[in-house]
Amino acid sequence: MGITKILIIALLVWTALKVYSVVKSRSNDSDDNRMNKKIIPCSFCKTHVPLSSAIRVNNKYFCSKDHSKNA
Ligand SMILES: [Zn+2]
Repeated sequence: MGITKILIIALLVWTALKVYSVVKSRSNDSDDNRMNKKIIPCSFCKTHVPLSSAIRVNNKYFCSKDHSKNA
C-alpha cells in the first residue's frame, strides 16, 4: 500500500470522526435544551430566571411562587 492511499484513508477517517462529533454535539443541543436554557424576566420583579425554573401563571412567567401570586 502506498503512502498516498494511507493518507487518503487517514483523511477519510479524520473527516468521518469530525462529522460524527459535530452531529453528536448538535443532537445534544436539542430544542428542549435550548428552551430550558432560555432566560426570561420575572413579570413581577424583572429578575431574569431560566425558563426551566420559572413559574408560569396566566401566560406570564415568575421567578418564584411568591411572585406568581401577583399574577
Ligand atoms: Zn420575581
